[in-house]
Amino acid sequence: MNAAPTASNTDFLLSVEGLTVSFDGFKAVDDLSLYVDRNEIRVIIGPNGAGKTTVLDLICGRTKATAGSIKFEQTELTTMKEHQIVRAGVGRKFQNPSIYEDLTVFENLEISYPKGRSVFGALMFQRDATVRARVMEIAETVFLQDHLNLRAEYLSHGQKQWLEIGMLLIQDPALLMLDEPVAGMSVAERKKTAELLQRIIQNRSVLVIEHDMGFVEDIAHKVTVLHQGKVIAEGSMAHVKQDPRVIEVYLGH
Ligand code: ADP
Ligand code: MG
Repeated sequence: MNAAPTASNTDFLLSVEGLTVSFDGFKAVDDLSLYVDRNEIRVIIGPNGAGKTTVLDLICGRTKATAGSIKFEQTELTTMKEHQIVRAGVGRKFQNPSIYEDLTVFENLEISYPKGRSVFGALMFQRDATVRARVMEIAETVFLQDHLNLRAEYLSHGQKQWLEIGMLLIQDPALLMLDEPVAGMSVAERKKTAELLQRIIQNRSVLVIEHDMGFVEDIAHKVTVLHQGKVIAEGSMAHVKQDPRVIEVYLGH
């Protein structure tokens, strides 16, 4: 592997260094370092149990690190609470969509609009117009502009995934983390999801966990391969695909 760059002299959006978490002596993530550029789509791949989801849990503050550092912009995340990390600009989507089934698409997006960002004071109607415009913009980004008044329970599985991505996007996170976003999607929905990620990358970086190698090839700028809590390979998909270790522990199966 190439010599790791150091966070101090390079302008990464996210710099993870020496990250370790131990569950009763078992190291699910073991001395992991990872550097994500601005406007980068990074994909983490690896066998089940490799520690991929745990890495996202650590970054979003759901799990506390045993050792190591997670720097986002200039901020150290390991000492922060989950809601503070969200406010700092990190959005995270879990494997199962958490949307409000009994609310419409519009309402799901509207309630996800960040509170307390209003600069309009008492001018409620002006705020409403701003929120409405933002909801429309996001709905279009996630292919749901024609379903604004549909209750979310009637959306397809793929559309529900997109709605949840929209609910995160409306908060304008600088880092968006997605855990297996295309699992259970049709081929057509996977293609559209790849297009969606390309669209939203202008203002942010995306960290994705995925098993669908076709999808990974479509979207990844760089791939990090995890095995037993450690990085075993990193680089372009073309590069890691040829790595004998990666083939042995993951791609060969
Ligand atoms: P992946 O997402 O790569 O499939 P995970 O990050 O979910 O892997 O899990 C990595 C390992 O850590 C697994 O062996 C899992 O059982 C273990 N693990 C994850 N979370 C916990 C926890 N809260 N307590 C104990 N063990 C855990
Ligand atoms: Mg997982």
